[in-house]
Amino acid sequence: MEEMRRTVNCGDLRKADLGKKVILNGWVNRKRDHGGISFINLRDRYGITQTVVDPEVFPQGTIPAELVQVTAELRNEFCLAVEGKVRPRPDTMVNPEMPTGEIEVAVEKILILNRSKELPFQIEDETSAREELRLKYRYLDLRSAAMQKRIKLRNDVVFAIREYMTDKGFYEIETPTFIRSTPEGARDYLVPSRLYPGKFYALPQSPQIYKQILMVSGFDKYFQIARCYRDEDARGDRQPEFTQLDIEMSFVSREDVLSLIEGLFGHVFRKTVNCELPPKFKRLSYEEAMETYGTDKPDLRFDMQLKDFSPWVAAGEFQAFKDALATPGGGVKVLVVPGKIGDKTIEYSRKQIEELEAQAKIYKARGMAWMKVGQTGVPEGGVSKFFSSQAAVIISGLGAKPGDLILIVADSKRRIANTALGAVRSKLGRDLGLCDPAKFEFVWILDLPLFEFNEEKNQWEAAHHMFSYPQEQYHATLETDPGAVKGDLYDLVFNGFELASGSIRIHDPELQKRIFNIVGYDPAEAEAKFGFLTEAFKYGAPPHGGIAPGIDRLVMIMAGQTSIKEVIAFPKNSFAEGLMDDCPNTVGPEQLKELHLIIDEPSGNNQVK
Ligand code: ASP
Repeated sequence: MEEMRRTVNCGDLRKADLGKKVILNGWVNRKRDHGGISFINLRDRYGITQTVVDPEVFPQGTIPAELVQVTAELRNEFCLAVEGKVRPRPDTMVNPEMPTGEIEVAVEKILILNRSKELPFQIEDETSAREELRLKYRYLDLRSAAMQKRIKLRNDVVFAIREYMTDKGFYEIETPTFIRSTPEGARDYLVPSRLYPGKFYALPQSPQIYKQILMVSGFDKYFQIARCYRDEDARGDRQPEFTQLDIEMSFVSREDVLSLIEGLFGHVFRKTVNCELPPKFKRLSYEEAMETYGTDKPDLRFDMQLKDFSPWVAAGEFQAFKDALATPGGGVKVLVVPGKIGDKTIEYSRKQIEELEAQAKIYKARGMAWMKVGQTGVPEGGVSKFFSSQAAVIISGLGAKPGDLILIVADSKRRIANTALGAVRSKLGRDLGLCDPAKFEFVWILDLPLFEFNEEKNQWEAAHHMFSYPQEQYHATLETDPGAVKGDLYDLVFNGFELASGSIRIHDPELQKRIFNIVGYDPAEAEAKFGFLTEAFKYGAPPHGGIAPGIDRLVMIMAGQTSIKEVIAFPKNSFAEGLMDDCPNTVGPEQLKELHLIIDEPSGNNQVK
């Protein structure tokens, strides 16, 4: 590579470089032949430069035979070294969209560094290639300017995180990847031990226990860009391995953790996307979030709040609403959908209303009632006839305007009325284009329940994890009323995605044992699985707490994407398969034997005979 090593990169050259002799290294992004002149757009990580094989450059106006031959051979994605002189583009060919759009390089010599096979798909920013192909040929997919930009953003975000955390006195400490299998909510990935037959390491679902033990060790400010592994079924946009910014601090209260994160994100957004975030993020209690948005992950890029319809139920004549309220814990909730957004008027058809109802039903609503506000400001259609005597009060109580659509869900469980209407709100946000990807809305969700009841297992479970501190006022009633216990827990929601969860932790071994007991471990089992943690707590464990924002999601939203695969260099597909290296895959009988494994799978060819 000595001969034609690059002197500039493909994003460098400007008008100020006119006349310079340069060498570029890169890939053929596109080649066009125009009556004896060839335009070769050369691309690298930094940009694209137009290079031109032009007879005018050469004595007697003839391109040397060797260059003609090389140029004729070029195809997209050939890897080249190109030597030439920077010249201005003719006025008609100046491209203001390209940073290098005012110049071109008049080619004197081309060296093919490597040829490319015919491409499985064209490398474009808005690729239409199937995801399967993009993942199989990920190295090609990653060459697109769009992917390169996202991977750069990820790099910049991680760098800014390290910068801020180090500046605030945090140590970056690595915790092991092979650990003891300790239940943390999801299923563990296991690694069989060759040295200890029948024994397994687990890959960490998060460094949770280790970071807490680091607090016992006195490293009072820890962070790590940590890889986490969870063996979960394919659902949504999950990856079996993902990256989080893992943080733990000693001698802190909830406020310290929240303000650290606010400062951190302020720094990261300023440094990477030049965006100034508010110094403090909005806050909602879990109950407020559920009542107002029907979810604990509200997207605050648009307003549209859920309201209570109960004040009008008794005087109305709609029996289903009355029944819902007659049941203790029942509720009737309402959503006013604007008939006008900006200067655009929206007409909601019967079909659209049915689609919204179908969405509510996915979230267990038995139905969804509706009425429209007519041009005279009077409700019409749907269930309006049952409320005609209170039309004016309802409209003014809801602040509804002519053209608005009013949606109502009633249920004997208020939670269902909330979540079903919350799901309708989210769908409307997407359908009506209210989720502006350029807008960044953060909100803290506080005072979350510590436990949730698993109906299938008939068992209380930790809503976050078992190490979170129950708020003081519930300590006396932990066992008798687990459902009411609020934890010293906090979630950070970003544009409707749960970006981070964290908590102040339990540091008292006795309280920790009570929690293990409530979530179904008998003392011997808890001792076997977590004894090392409770033992560590007996040696002067400091009060501590932490949080862990997901890096993949953070970068995904910052990049205006809707899948984390778009910001991970080598993601698995939705079925946890690596398509490029075809994994998981079988291993030979020798390897299995060494690991003392027998595969009990009739269709597999991995059996040890
Ligand atoms: N370990 C937790 C998680 O991965 C985060 C935390 O509590 O700090 O969700």
